[in-house]
Amino acid sequence: MTRDKLDRLADLRAACTLEKHAEARRQLTLLGPTPWPVPTAADPDQERLERWILHRCAWPNGITAYPFGFQHVTPEPDHLTIHVESNPEHVRELVKELLPNEYEGDLGGVPGLRAGRDNTGAPLLYLAGTRASVTLRGIAAKDWQVAVTGWRSHLASIGARPLWDISPTAMSMEESDLLQWFDPPSTVKRPCWLASALLRRIGTFTASGLPARLTGWTTGGTQHDRWKFEFEFIPGHRRAHERVLNLLTHPEVGLPLRVTKDVCSCRSGHGHGCWATLQATSGHQGSVQLLFHDCDPGTVTSWESRWPAQFAQIRAGNSAKTADRAAADCGSPQENPS
Ligand SMILES: [Zn+2]
Repeated sequence: MTRDKLDRLADLRAACTLEKHAEARRQLTLLGPTPWPVPTAADPDQERLERWILHRCAWPNGITAYPFGFQHVTPEPDHLTIHVESNPEHVRELVKELLPNEYEGDLGGVPGLRAGRDNTGAPLLYLAGTRASVTLRGIAAKDWQVAVTGWRSHLASIGARPLWDISPTAMSMEESDLLQWFDPPSTVKRPCWLASALLRRIGTFTASGLPARLTGWTTGGTQHDRWKFEFEFIPGHRRAHERVLNLLTHPEVGLPLRVTKDVCSCRSGHGHGCWATLQATSGHQGSVQLLFHDCDPGTVTSWESRWPAQFAQIRAGNSAKTADRAAADCGSPQENPS
């Protein structure tokens, strides 16, 4: 690969992952010859773990500067590293959303998830009895420990049972059943591909500028995943939503998705917002709907007084440069070849 091509692909990868250019370049070199600068998860367990992490984290309670509090990601075929926005409040939220527990027969957190540490001391999340794993980086060891201890105490106080440090090699039948989520007899092949691929492209959610708030939820049934994401912007900030579509459908770093609806009200000024729908192609199933609109100014004032540090980062738009550079290369929205 020529140096120019490697640099161009590193820019594209960095727009998706929010890695720095040098790191994206290093990862591409490690990947070796591949047509896909952002690798897909190599096996269904890895996809499933990543899908559940997005499912549990896509609707943060508070305001995060980066999408779902994830600053950047480093996807590898058999592993994902998530670099987390480090503040104690967000770490407590992650612990609460991810670590599994059982309360009066109901399961919370990610079923089957077990938590350990990697050889650097960073939290290592894995699915019991599988090779699927995700590392969380950027969290101070003390913050993680305090959050886990606090969550364990809370669970004990309400009579719930922590499950994240029981057997590392086996999960309960209840965990296994919930983890599958999709009805096994009717499911399509690898139904978790979409959420996993979106999590591996966290930068897609910043390609239109950092939203003041981003929430996502799944509306999928038992056969395939459907996701909706709502981008709420500080009034006056740009809503360059075509850049999100460009990245999601980019032939080299995008997904097998095509834009089926794209409604823009930016120029009409009536403030109803803009939205787009993308449907899976190439034998895949699933869909993504994106909604873009401005926040109410009063809401912004209230959020900003509650989360000043996060809003300072959002206003600075400190990740926009990478997205700008690669999005400029993307041209107009296009469909992936099917
Ligand atoms: Zn628009």
